[in-house]
Amino acid sequence: MKQKYIYSFGGGKADGNESMKNLLGGKGANLAEMAGHPNLRLPVPPGFTITTEVCTYYYDHKRTYPKGLTLDLGRALQQVEKLMKRKFGDPVNPLLVSVRSGARKSMPGMMETILNVGLTEKTIPGLIKHSGGNDRFVYDAYRRLIMMYSDVVMEKAAGVELEDEGAGIRRQLEHIMDRLKKQKGYRTDTDLKTEDLKELCVQFKSKIKEVLGKEFPDDPEKQLWGGIGAVFASWNGKRAISYRRIEGIPDEWGTAVNVQSMVFGNMGSDSATGVAFTRNPGNGDNKFYGEYLIDAQGEDVVAGIRTPAPVNEYSKSEHNKELITLEQGMPKLYKALFDIQRRLEKHYHDMQDIEFTIEKGRLFMLQCRVGKRNGHAAVRIAVDMLKEKLIDRETAIMRVTPDQLDELLHPIIDPKIEKEQKIFVKGLPAGPGGASGQVVFNALDAVEWTKQGKKVILVREETNPEDVEGMRAAQAILTARGGMTSHAALVARGWGKCCIVGCGKLHVDYKAKTLSSDGVTLKEGSWITLNGTRGNVYQGQLPMIDASSENSILANFLKVCDSVKKLGVRTNADTPEDAQAGRRFGAQGIGLFRTEHMFYGKGSEEPLFRLRKMIISKTVEERRRALDELYPYVKKDVKGTLEAMDGYPVVVRLLDPPLHEFVPRERGKLEELSRDLHITMDELASRAENLHESNPMMGHRGVRLGITYPEVSEMQIRAVFDAAAELIAEGKKPYPEIMIPVVGHVKELQDQFDIAKRVYREVLEKHKLKSIKHMLGTMIEIPRACIVSDQIAEIAQFFSFGTNDLTQMGFGFSRDDIGSFLPDYLVKTILPDDPFQTIDQEGIGELMKISIERGRKQRPNLEIGICGEHGGDPRSVDFCHRLGMDYVSCSPFRVPIARLAAAQAVLRQKALQTKTNRKSKPGNKSK
Ligand code: PEP
Ligand code: MG
Repeated sequence: MKQKYIYSFGGGKADGNESMKNLLGGKGANLAEMAGHPNLRLPVPPGFTITTEVCTYYYDHKRTYPKGLTLDLGRALQQVEKLMKRKFGDPVNPLLVSVRSGARKSMPGMMETILNVGLTEKTIPGLIKHSGGNDRFVYDAYRRLIMMYSDVVMEKAAGVELEDEGAGIRRQLEHIMDRLKKQKGYRTDTDLKTEDLKELCVQFKSKIKEVLGKEFPDDPEKQLWGGIGAVFASWNGKRAISYRRIEGIPDEWGTAVNVQSMVFGNMGSDSATGVAFTRNPGNGDNKFYGEYLIDAQGEDVVAGIRTPAPVNEYSKSEHNKELITLEQGMPKLYKALFDIQRRLEKHYHDMQDIEFTIEKGRLFMLQCRVGKRNGHAAVRIAVDMLKEKLIDRETAIMRVTPDQLDELLHPIIDPKIEKEQKIFVKGLPAGPGGASGQVVFNALDAVEWTKQGKKVILVREETNPEDVEGMRAAQAILTARGGMTSHAALVARGWGKCCIVGCGKLHVDYKAKTLSSDGVTLKEGSWITLNGTRGNVYQGQLPMIDASSENSILANFLKVCDSVKKLGVRTNADTPEDAQAGRRFGAQGIGLFRTEHMFYGKGSEEPLFRLRKMIISKTVEERRRALDELYPYVKKDVKGTLEAMDGYPVVVRLLDPPLHEFVPRERGKLEELSRDLHITMDELASRAENLHESNPMMGHRGVRLGITYPEVSEMQIRAVFDAAAELIAEGKKPYPEIMIPVVGHVKELQDQFDIAKRVYREVLEKHKLKSIKHMLGTMIEIPRACIVSDQIAEIAQFFSFGTNDLTQMGFGFSRDDIGSFLPDYLVKTILPDDPFQTIDQEGIGELMKISIERGRKQRPNLEIGICGEHGGDPRSVDFCHRLGMDYVSCSPFRVPIARLAAAQAVLRQKALQTKTNRKSKPGNKSK
């Protein structure tokens, strides 16, 4: 059978349908569905779609068309002529068409469109007659065609190189028009009279000849083929190519071309055009919502020259409340439109974005597609549609993206305002949401200014634990260095605070108290605004919107997710407050309690001082004394957290960071320490010097501390078991899981477990208990540990992947310095993503896979989780689900996102399974 290149639609029939997006593009498939599906058969202006296969052919055959296309097109055009009762190129009753692109996935504004094709000197009189003598309208349409055609077909598609963007033919024609308006004293385009427009058309044509060396084709056929060629050519235009790179759309897909009869909303006061949504895309209300303009073309609604009027009472706003609604002005047509939009939503089972035109009292549907919505609306619509039985549970879960959910959990910059801003500097999006504040350059000022009631952004070269108070006080944190798991990023995310790190272009001058980027310098006290979800920094104070209300809808939605997900979701929490926040967000336990965090921030003065004593001590006795002093603080912290998580597991990790991080830098603190230890400042300096390491992240940290200072591990383990024993006595159900970090060799772990087992026996005896429910396990964060996971699983009862360190050590990338070179890696697409943000599945992920296989082979009931930052990244959660882990753990504010991602992972896997089963059934050929 001859290959079919053209699919017609109109008159209640269509060759194609919605399922044919690959062949007809999104727009073409939807037009066919609207026009031809028995449930719809909507008044769509008739037309036809030239398939994406023709586009592929066009590029494979030196920009030529398949044989027979001209003939097919002629036939399809005849069909349209018949339905419209007009003829293309006919001087008496001419048909005009639009020529538009339409890829499988919408690429808004990236490709070309030409309207009013078929309008020529010859057909003008016919159109004037049809429009009831409205010659101004016709000449306006003609000058629009000339402008669009010369720009799109004669310049862009022809590959004319421009010296600068502003020198294009379109700009030149606009100059001519502006000059005329000025001469005549007109303010807007609508002031132009018929004679002016006629004159403009003449001038435009001669300018085109002068600049491009060719005549504007006053021939309908030529215009049509020129338009089709231009749309195909625009698939490989610069804009479209870069958009495809960003969105990951394959080059081979190609675009379809839609040729459709023109209908005009600008034929007088009985004509109009508008856009509408079947539900409010801003808040999800189940109300028809939209705007329209009388006597206007579609582009006028978007262009913002005139204020569009609301379609109904509900759509009224401050700006348009005085204008007449469509419901009042054209009640019959409104009713027809209202019915259509209900039918569309019912048919597509989703909120639709529709475009319509009224030509001389006749309603036409130009387009419908799934409507874009914000996070708030997405959740609301999913929950409502599920209740209305319009969709099932699975569909509801897949309707909300993790980013949309994130919008609900943090205030964000008003998107309308943000769109208009120029970015001051860009960095890595380390902590989500938006925040505004005045710039300060150190933690003390951050605290001080905040006390005075000011809002501040703490700007640092990089942060360290001493900045924590300032970080807590600030609205947001901005650093020039550091990666997604740098100190600032970890801390900020834990608090759900907005944070941007690794702004390579940012220069921070502490002395002058300035920050600069690209030649712009801001002083202390200047206002800046951060979008921590995207990593953008703006000058000035931008308005925020708080989307976090209406939590009952969110809670409902997450309950639906929980009914599907398999993975457990825990939280990383370092304080009892974090633990409570995690519980509120639905965490089923704690996946990582970093004990060292009790030494940062509020209330840390006393334990930190004792820790420092312990670090600086020289003999075992000195250290033991310091540890004895430290013990009650550790026990209290652990107890508070175990209590907050009563009944749920709490993974308590023993001290991990290199100790030098805790050595004080301020002179006052150093003096205090020397006094208390009864040593001179010189002696103190020399002991501190001994702690210096060239590469601390690979230095004396994690289990290595416990090996050299077993008493340090012993104190912590005792604190955990004692805390648990006390809680048992109080009738609680503590469940600690003691975790040893940075293990690479099974003997390191055995060494620590021996301590743990001895202390456990001692604690049982002390409290006269038979047992305390607990587990002993390890982090898997060193590549070697992955390989020898079978040996490790012989003694470990659980694994928790520390993917921050595993990425660091697997790639050999320092997690604190990656910000300086990562942007180059991303621009050059050496890496598709920041591996500290989303798991590098083929490398680091493979190590995890090996570890799980070997670990579970040795111990089938081995509990496996992840506590690196990736535990809150949706793509990584999906990966963890596929690896068969038991749980993911992430910062409290990411818990809802992980719950959604875990449910979506199940559904995605199910869909894949169904697809594979279908393919493997005999008789089914894979496509
Ligand atoms: C990790 O390495 O992934 C981890 C959770 O530990 P930390 O970030 O504290 O090193
Ligand atoms: Mg680690």
